[in-house]
Amino acid sequence: MTARTPLVAANWKMHATIDRALRLVEDVKAGIAAVRGVDVVICPPATALSAVGRALAGTPLMLGGQTMHWEPEGAFTGEISAPMLVDVGCRAVLIGHSERRLYFGETNETVGLKVPAALRHDLIPIICVGERLQERQAGETDAVVTRQIHAAIRNTGEHDLRRLVIAYEPVWAIGTGQTATGKEADRVAGVIRDGLAALGHREAGSSARILYGGSVKPENIGEFLGQPQIDGALVGGASLDAQAFAAIVRAAAG
Ligand code: PEP
Repeated sequence: MTARTPLVAANWKMHATIDRALRLVEDVKAGIAAVRGVDVVICPPATALSAVGRALAGTPLMLGGQTMHWEPEGAFTGEISAPMLVDVGCRAVLIGHSERRLYFGETNETVGLKVPAALRHDLIPIICVGERLQERQAGETDAVVTRQIHAAIRNTGEHDLRRLVIAYEPVWAIGTGQTATGKEADRVAGVIRDGLAALGHREAGSSARILYGGSVKPENIGEFLGQPQIDGALVGGASLDAQAFAAIVRAAAG
């Protein structure tokens, strides 16, 4: 099997003005200064991207956007494009986060346009997928996630697929304090890998990094990192606490 470097991403969502963002990023840097063997992505709100990007310069930590438009520029008021994210130092971007899908009209179709646009500009797309509670209760988890993945990669060639990061985030676990069990998350990660392989992307199925997201904390991260199909975590709430986030990163480094 392809060796996969663990990855932990922080999604600060709509939190932190520049002052707070800078304090947070400095505390995170201090907390993981000696840590090796794990990729770390910090996704601040758009207004703090430049400042946090400067604070990350010269470190291995990567800056990430929380969303992007698929066009490089145009009359799309309020949106940010991939070249603009690159311009402020981003190397990754969250695509299709469930909050974007729920509140801002993100669909499987727009995710399918954004993923190749991100890759064209050398941004690592962190594609978020996951079922809602009703879908889970109806036994539709695998079908929902498979549909989301197929749509996300439908415009992307085999070569680019190797750089994918996929975050499996059951929607009912985001910000709720509830989590999937490690075994269930691992099973769904396996479904995602099998889905990629079934589409003819065998290499991507084994090389893509799959993260778990949904109420990850230092106390429960071990359960997910112990699973063979899971390569790290996408962390929301706990990433706003530098000590907690640093502890999660240290756990992922092994
Ligand atoms: C997220 O926003 O992607 C997330 C997983 O949030 P939380 O960790 O707060 O559940």
